[in-house]
Amino acid sequence: VTSFSGKAVALFGLGGSGLVTALALKAGGAHVVACDDNPAKMAEAQTKGVETGDLRSADWSRFSSLILSPGVPLTHPEPHWSAKLAQAAGVEIIGDIELFCRERAKIAPNAPFIAITGTNGKSTTTALIAHILREAGHDVQMGGNIGTAILSLKPPSERRIHVIECSSFQIDLAPSLAPSIGVLLNITPDHLDRHGTMEEYAAIKERLVAKAAKAILGADDALSRAIIARRPQANTIRVGLTDRDAGSVYAQGSRIIDNRDGRVIEVADLTGIGSLRGDHNAQNAAAAIAIALLSDVDAVAIQRALRSFPGLPHRMEEVARLGEALFINDSKATNADSTEKALASFDNILWILGGKAKDGGITPLKPYFPKVRKAYLIGAASDEFAAILEGAVPYSRTSTMEKAVEQAAHDAAAINAPSVVLLSPACASYDQYPNFEVRGDHFRTLVRALPGINPTRG
Ligand code: ADP
Repeated sequence: VTSFSGKAVALFGLGGSGLVTALALKAGGAHVVACDDNPAKMAEAQTKGVETGDLRSADWSRFSSLILSPGVPLTHPEPHWSAKLAQAAGVEIIGDIELFCRERAKIAPNAPFIAITGTNGKSTTTALIAHILREAGHDVQMGGNIGTAILSLKPPSERRIHVIECSSFQIDLAPSLAPSIGVLLNITPDHLDRHGTMEEYAAIKERLVAKAAKAILGADDALSRAIIARRPQANTIRVGLTDRDAGSVYAQGSRIIDNRDGRVIEVADLTGIGSLRGDHNAQNAAAAIAIALLSDVDAVAIQRALRSFPGLPHRMEEVARLGEALFINDSKATNADSTEKALASFDNILWILGGKAKDGGITPLKPYFPKVRKAYLIGAASDEFAAILEGAVPYSRTSTMEKAVEQAAHDAAAINAPSVVLLSPACASYDQYPNFEVRGDHFRTLVRALPGINPTRG
């Protein structure tokens, strides 16, 4: 990135995108001084030729900007010390998405740039948009919060589409964010511990669409609807399950309907598409399809791309089949809200759950208990969950994933009907695993080692 050529820039946070950002700034002629609380990260940066230093004792009058990693708290509840120091010195605090936006404004202001946010469904929608556009023959660069750091992607150009997932933290650090299409899927309570009030959280999300040339807005929750009401309708498409008025692309059952201009046209059907099961995915699909329509992808190409969408790992991921049993890895479901989506999507469920419980536990899931044939408890929450299941759902204290998979597979074989062995823990993984990905990978590996198993993907 060239906007900082000749300037001194401080950078805090060398995990993930931080190092990539430092190197991109350096390559563009900036003088970067990087810092991290973790000495190993500092050492790694040094071996890559990045200058490191202690920003606590730095002379901030030298620096034009502080580049902050998105994981480092900026505003709530306690700003990080580096942000406090920069703020006190009047130094702007920005993130890597902002660097991309400035670069785009400089070298290719009309380059297609699709930015996606929301409390839930960001990654699925981002991946689906990228997939549909790629299948339609576009050069798509996908990244941001979903994985690849934005500055590791190819630079913006008018013949290339950037599809970028943005977390609230990243939006907060990108004051010039003005995508060609902004997508805001939904706003529901989450991460409030890190963002202060719901109003502040919603205001940050709104910034992603505020300066977007076109906006796709979820219309299924009250906070998103309030944002819709404040916007010019001409450049807004409402998506979801509830709003079917002109100006919308909506889901009606499994069908996606284009009603952008008052002519109601069915554009796609999600029936039988395993990677997009459930109402929540209908909202994600409606948003992705709205973008495909804006990008002139026709209904036939959209339907073909939906069918070949592999879905994302750990989110209701089909892992294998064994006889009439389907094995689903939903390890990403770390709270009751997410697990609710999975329980709603299946019947005859052999449910593997547990780990480190969150506030509220699984009590909100009681209405779905009749769909569960048996529960298999793993991890630290076993006692708490057993007490809630008692008398409503048969359960087994399997304690480990190995035993849970073995017993659930055994029990599934005894059911003379289609059933689903579902890992949807409704818990964090930290008591038994480093993260939800390792937990889901473990489940997948165990399932695929079962005798006679038939893997369904990757
Ligand atoms: P994010 O990237 O925002 O965390 P993902 O696409 O990874 O979202 O989906 C994570 C989980 O969130 C899913 O497993 C599902 O339980 C839930 N989810 C996905 N899309 C939606 C949606 N549109 N509305 C509500 N919940 C959703």
